Amino acid sequence: MSQKNFVLAIDQGTTSSRAIIFDHSGRIVSVGQMEHEQIFPHAGWVEHDAMEIWNNVREVIGRALATATTNVGKAINHHDIAAVGVTNQRETTIVWDKNTGIPVYNAIVWQDTRSQDLVNRLAANGGPDRWRPFVGETLSTYASITKLMWILENVPGAREKAEAGDLLFGNPDTWVIWNLTGGVNGGLHITDVTNASRTMLMDLKTLQWREDICQEAGIPMSMLPAIKSSAEVYGECRQDGLLAGVPVAGDLGDQQAATFGQACFEPGMAKNTYGTGCFMLMNTGTEPQPSENGMITTVCYKIGDQPTVYALEGSIAVTGSLIQWLRDNLKIIDSAPEVNELAASVEDNGGVYFVPAFSGLFAPYWKGDARGSIVGMTRYNTKGHIARAALEATAFQTREVLDAMEADSGVKLGQLRVDGGMTASDMLMQFQSDMLGVPVVLPVVAETTALGAAYAAGIAVGFWSGTQDVIDNWQEDKRWTPAIEDAERDRQLRLWKKAVTRTFDWVDEDVK
Ligand code: ADP
Repeated sequence: MSQKNFVLAIDQGTTSSRAIIFDHSGRIVSVGQMEHEQIFPHAGWVEHDAMEIWNNVREVIGRALATATTNVGKAINHHDIAAVGVTNQRETTIVWDKNTGIPVYNAIVWQDTRSQDLVNRLAANGGPDRWRPFVGETLSTYASITKLMWILENVPGAREKAEAGDLLFGNPDTWVIWNLTGGVNGGLHITDVTNASRTMLMDLKTLQWREDICQEAGIPMSMLPAIKSSAEVYGECRQDGLLAGVPVAGDLGDQQAATFGQACFEPGMAKNTYGTGCFMLMNTGTEPQPSENGMITTVCYKIGDQPTVYALEGSIAVTGSLIQWLRDNLKIIDSAPEVNELAASVEDNGGVYFVPAFSGLFAPYWKGDARGSIVGMTRYNTKGHIARAALEATAFQTREVLDAMEADSGVKLGQLRVDGGMTASDMLMQFQSDMLGVPVVLPVVAETTALGAAYAAGIAVGFWSGTQDVIDNWQEDKRWTPAIEDAERDRQLRLWKKAVTRTFDWVDEDVK
């Protein structure tokens, strides 16, 4: 048998599924990628077809192996792959029949807000923070719990089947692993501690499902996957698939995987991913750190039977998608990268602040009734100022999340590791460093999400010896350092905070 030189990561994301093959130095050998349909049946509803997702995952595995064959110059197949790791869009909820392997409903995506009534019902008995001490977050439509309740209460026959033990619940990691390891023929029904921590059903300390919460939500515990660590051999890929016999050995939610891939293994280290939205995670060590400032307390990772590592997370809803909005709705740019040219056509923001509270404000404000606003406009302003203010909004929002995180953790950040599509904007990254007052650092391998899942799987099978290998492989590509006076930073932050207050309490009976 040939030597196993590679690890394959499956990244089941919100807009696409990817398979990436990595070599021992953590460099990308090949990528297979396919987008899937975004289904919007009503305002606020977002669904995916879980069968389409599984078919795409199979397809991208094939593509990654074929491209690796071309890139390496010799046939690459399952004999060359030491392990498979899975990472995924978190919270997204899939329920399927374990006897047929068919989902009873489309996947309800993390962004979906249809379950607000269920959130209100649960919150009526003790307030939205009633379970925060155990599960780390405030009741909202974000977590899996009310999405799963919605399926049980609204899909005909679902509750009866669930109570008879015929239905399984999972996030996309669980769905992919179940199918990958055999599906109806003995597929593994498992998840990892990071994904489980986003359901609001798992106790952060015991790492077990909470019977009391399941009972009150009407969720039969027989539906729930077994909770495993993020890095251990869970089982093997089915014999009749392209990865026959390869151990499945890593599973992490996407943001936690990125934190792992960024080698944030010491308490106080943090990464921020700049995509459609922004997700900042700070490693807080082996005890869950409660938040008083609107952060989510979550599991960061757990390697085998080593101690669990926790994180604080700040989620920002609208960052890169604001650039898309300039392109698709305002049409002042033709492509996302063009925002930089337009923003560079002016000296500064010209006094304009753009608070993109399109769907309310997430961290640290959590104000569902806020709506977006552009403030500070005068006759002098041009579309260049609006472009500039849109880019700067990402940096201001990130600064506010970091302030909240530092207040909760008592840790002062030394530098911020970054990744995601918006890091292509030099102007934004420089402004980010200016607004944080610390260096912002981009690694050579910016595919940190898939990389983190690959590392977890590779560590579990001994392909890598442990986190030190991840640290050794991590290499800096670019760095931006603060180049602004403290007084100017303070002035800008003051104006930003003032602008934020202008978005509050907008939605009332006149505004829906
Ligand atoms: P996701 O994984 O959330 O789909 P990505 O990490 O691929 O997102 O980042 C894409 C986002 O980055 C898009 O929302 C896009 O508007 C933004 N973006 C892409 N290129 C640039 C650029 N050069 N400057 C600023 N924003 C950009």
